Amino acid sequence: MAAQILDGKSLAASLRAELKHKVEALVQRGVRPGLAVILAGDDPASRVYVRNKTLAAEQVGVASSVIEFPASVTEAQLMARISALNAERSVHSILVQLPLPKGVDGARVLEAIAPEKDVDGFHEANLGALLAGRPGVVPCTPAGVMRLIAHAGVPLAGRRAVVIGRSNIVGKPLALLLLQKDATVTICHSKSSNLAEIARQADVLVAAVGRAKLVTAAMVKPGACVIDVGVNRLPDGKLAGDVDFEAVKQVAGWITPVPGGVGPMTIAMLLENCVRAASRELGS
Ligand code: NAD
Repeated sequence: MAAQILDGKSLAASLRAELKHKVEALVQRGVRPGLAVILAGDDPASRVYVRNKTLAAEQVGVASSVIEFPASVTEAQLMARISALNAERSVHSILVQLPLPKGVDGARVLEAIAPEKDVDGFHEANLGALLAGRPGVVPCTPAGVMRLIAHAGVPLAGRRAVVIGRSNIVGKPLALLLLQKDATVTICHSKSSNLAEIARQADVLVAAVGRAKLVTAAMVKPGACVIDVGVNRLPDGKLAGDVDFEAVKQVAGWITPVPGGVGPMTIAMLLENCVRAASRELGS
């Protein structure tokens, strides 16, 4: 039997509708969530991502502003602007669109954001909180993956989860979240040997690499939940994930499509982090 498709697009739409109500309630109490986005340089993909995020923010009633800098911007200029935004009461969340121009140390810039305004959850204070199991801002893509898994009712406690990819923004935080749900977690990466063998043991298999068709049907345990975080542009211009979707959906129990799986959930979680940050102003 073919896998159940985990429809991130429709789940994200219902989450955004709930967030819209929450924003209306906040506005009635005098607080409109505010998101400031820093866009530096002229990367066309970054421009599209920023537009998608700010449009989604406006649709739920979050006030968003984009602060643009030329590619020649210095680290000091970015940090000065972030420092001003940290002090700005109407700004509850700050997002620095990556990658930053050459010569700018992205890690240092991210660390300049006040942790409670770090809507992406990339600040070391938030990553540390996740590691220690304390409250903090959880990175959006891993949070979106966990929400998709929970919504589908995929069991995690005591199950084997394999995450392919060890980045600080996807693979590592996702592994920690799966561990929090009592899964037995393995992280694989570019130097892992026996990737196929390890992947085949997974009840939940997540691919977060950036390589089309990395995960083949032969790497998937029958009935497993397969989550495809990857986004790859094919030579014909179409988008594809890291998973050979057509073949794997014949073997898996659940599978996310690309597009329409993890991507929309990432944006929904960004909005949720923003609304949560604004709620804190009212102590709720
Ligand atoms: P990254 O480049 O920082 O990390 C990629 C990881 O893949 C590394 O840890 C590396 O060790 C591992 N890797 C590389 N080649 C491998 C191989 N042959 N076998 C096993 N592991 C290998 O990337 P990232 O920022 O974590 O993003 C990963 C993918 O997810 C990209 O395609 C990115 O576009 C996508 N992404 C999607 C969303 C979304 O919202 N859908 C969000 C973030 C990232």
